[in-house]
Amino acid sequence: MKVYAYAAKEAKSKLEKFEYELGEIGNEEVDIKVHYCGLCHSDLSMIDNDWGMSAYPLVPGHEIVGEILNTGSEVKGLKKGDKVGMGWYSASCMHCNQCMDGKQHLCGTAEATIVGRHGGFADIVRGHWSWATLLPDGIDMAKAGPLFCGGITVFNPIVLSGVSPMDKVGIIGIGGLGHMALKFLKAWGCEVTAFTSNKSKTDALKEMGAHNVVDSTNSDELERIAGSLDFILNTTNVKLNWDAFLNTLSSQGKLHTVGAVLEPMEIPAFSMISGEKSIGGSPLGSIALTRKMLEFCVRHNIYPTVEEFNMEDVNDAIKHLHDGKARFRIVLKA
Ligand code: NAP
Ligand code: ZN
Repeated sequence: MKVYAYAAKEAKSKLEKFEYELGEIGNEEVDIKVHYCGLCHSDLSMIDNDWGMSAYPLVPGHEIVGEILNTGSEVKGLKKGDKVGMGWYSASCMHCNQCMDGKQHLCGTAEATIVGRHGGFADIVRGHWSWATLLPDGIDMAKAGPLFCGGITVFNPIVLSGVSPMDKVGIIGIGGLGHMALKFLKAWGCEVTAFTSNKSKTDALKEMGAHNVVDSTNSDELERIAGSLDFILNTTNVKLNWDAFLNTLSSQGKLHTVGAVLEPMEIPAFSMISGEKSIGGSPLGSIALTRKMLEFCVRHNIYPTVEEFNMEDVNDAIKHLHDGKARFRIVLKA
């Protein structure tokens, strides 16, 4: 079976049309006919080989929603025509301690959808059945794709860190991941501070539920809210004044990063010691938590705010995100 895709032929290049042959389907694999695929900043980092793990030609795309086209003989719980989503991971070993513990996203040999294999900027994508998550009935497929990478990536830390509805929380960077975190934490019941470097987003952020909007690059504004927050989630990948953010935390507060900050994060030890503060990070989330996140989205009518591009205009979409103009997540229509 031939797959019609868009690929980068080398680091930092534009995407071009690219065809490849999909071999016979494995017993535990499913083929998904792609309807929509979100554009995540990690796609840009992989195209540019920022993380030194890209292989070319590289077909990006890991926020996929579509329908099951083919199933291998051992596939559980899915049949042709089912509507599913697939995100950053497309397989895990299903026998290591992490997998057996229901933490498949921590599997040491988990397969990432766009690392060493081809992703969702294509008409068809393949993966292990376990990572193809059934969509709830009636969900808007045009908006659901970003939940499978960006969404679960910011939902997991809320659960992992035990964020309470009474907490005051902050989100640094209100792009694709950050705006979904804002909607989740607002629905969770928290008082939410949006840290943005772009104050022109203020009205939109307040409409999404932000109680406060603070300039993420202004030390005076950060100083003014010193000691007020219980939890901060960083979704940027740039160097910021991390010590100033630790200073906005109350005692025993936590700074958690999901943003793939490329430069080492400078943290003075005393900024953690004196208030028993901590720093953490996490990748995506488990399969079961992804299902629970979808239920949460349905219950609270939470969808990403998306801008739709046709898949053939993928290079325009990439430029739009790269230029910081995306409001707030780009989705490509196959
Ligand atoms: P995005 O849509 O580009 O959003 C990033 C946001 O960071 C921007 O919207 C901007 O928000 C802020 N920002 C950008 N440049 C800045 C600067 N110079 N100074 C201050 N703020 C700046 O990206 P995304 O798709 O949400 O991805 C965010 C990060 O998460 C990326 O590093 C991505 O690779 C990573 N990621 C990690 C995981 C994981 O498993 N841990 C999963 C998915 C993605 P404001 O305009 O509001 O300042
Ligand atoms: Zn992603």
